[in-house]
Amino acid sequence: DHHHHHHPHVVVAAFPHGTHAGPLLSLTRRLAAAAPNATFSFFSTSKSNASLNFPAAATNVTPYDVDDGVPPNHVFSGHPLEPVELFIKATPHNFTKAFQEAVSRNNNKKISCIMSDAFFWFLAEVAADINVPWVPLWTAASTSLSLHLYTDLIRQTIAPDDAAATGKMEESLFMSFVPGVPSALRLQDIPAEVIGGDHAFPAMLHKMSHFIARATAVTVNSFDDLEPSVTQHLKSSNLFPTFLPVGPFNLIDSSPSNNNLLHDPHACLHWLAGREPASVAYISFGTVMTPPPPELAGLAEALEAIGAPFIWSIPDRAKHNLPQGFLERIGSTSDDRSQGKVVSWAPQVELLSHEAVGVFVSHGGWNSVMESVSGGVPLICRPFLGDQRTNARLVSHVWGIGADLKDGRLSNKEGVMEALERVLKSEEGKLMRAKIKSLKELAKKAVSPDGTSANNFSQLFNIVTSPPSP
Ligand code: UDP
Repeated sequence: DHHHHHHPHVVVAAFPHGTHAGPLLSLTRRLAAAAPNATFSFFSTSKSNASLNFPAAATNVTPYDVDDGVPPNHVFSGHPLEPVELFIKATPHNFTKAFQEAVSRNNNKKISCIMSDAFFWFLAEVAADINVPWVPLWTAASTSLSLHLYTDLIRQTIAPDDAAATGKMEESLFMSFVPGVPSALRLQDIPAEVIGGDHAFPAMLHKMSHFIARATAVTVNSFDDLEPSVTQHLKSSNLFPTFLPVGPFNLIDSSPSNNNLLHDPHACLHWLAGREPASVAYISFGTVMTPPPPELAGLAEALEAIGAPFIWSIPDRAKHNLPQGFLERIGSTSDDRSQGKVVSWAPQVELLSHEAVGVFVSHGGWNSVMESVSGGVPLICRPFLGDQRTNARLVSHVWGIGADLKDGRLSNKEGVMEALERVLKSEEGKLMRAKIKSLKELAKKAVSPDGTSANNFSQLFNIVTSPPSP
């Protein structure tokens, strides 16, 4: 169909929580720039859309708001997964309703492809109904994707009820029975949702593991050489037809997906200028989590004790949990030569590619890990939710590009000091830096012309812009 071939209408459904929508928008912007004749309609909640950096109104990417599922006058408990559960309960109707709106606002231009966050298994059915491809993006590692896709195998193998009863969960049960997964991963490193739970979120991920087979292609923000055995497995398995790692996104799309206005509001780059190479610690636990007060205290005391310069990004809502007097003592509010800078938002991608930054203390969110790899900065991870424990183990035990914490927490000041000193001051830290710099080179090669991610992107482009089958 000639007409559709030249005027595809791609709908893109984003998961509005955590840092999911930004990466999907980044991929959408790249596809839209390469396909000026195509229309891209992008769907997220109004709050999520308002935080994203859409191209100028005249371009071919248009945001649409979907219902967030929060009842009027709802009072949140503060649990990080509560808004997620409410949102999931509003699907798929919130999306299908908004898709219709986008079709009618575009002179009834039919949908030719559905892209979405991989979480949205139900869009496989919507796509099948209208006979168009479903192309999910998994916004995390290929390794955590594989763990989720083998949920049934893992549950059968570990029999969680017995495991909990016998204390086996605490033991090092290695996950090497999962095809392609590195042998250093243990049971306690895999996402809790793989093991079980009767809430909407684990149920959605479990459904995803069954519906992924209906995807035309699955994309990830990773690159082939970073996770070679899992990539090889996902490319050759019959779990789904085509596997396309197209990252790291931040090396390809230099304009940040989060709103530009928030870019460097506290002049972190200015503060960093002239610092010794690999001397500064950068700290952020992402957009969802804040460590509990005893862990904030352990980290703050360790930083003061070793005297390393640092930039700490912490949301305003959590600042009051920092230890008493900390901000005054480190001189954060005064001049350029203060020991530390505590800010509510930092230009993370730029900081991690600045030569002065020597360690990243992180929750191990996937975007953060990819940005650290792209910048060549070793990590210390304190994981909390979802895939973060898997990512943390990849960092410390598979890639050898970071130090782990003694008891897995930041509350132990000596443990934090030791980890910081290992990365910043020891021979082992130099080795970590050398290893992550070689991963950085592989990442650059992947996105350069004829690299694996560049070639995978061309394949993705062909799938997303192809005419609907008759
Ligand atoms: N980020 C940033 N500045 C900050 C804090 C976070 O730019 O001060 C960005 C960071 O670069 C990354 C994202 O927020 O792209 C965090 O994503 P991640 O997947 O690590 O964690 P999540 O927010 O999903 O927990």
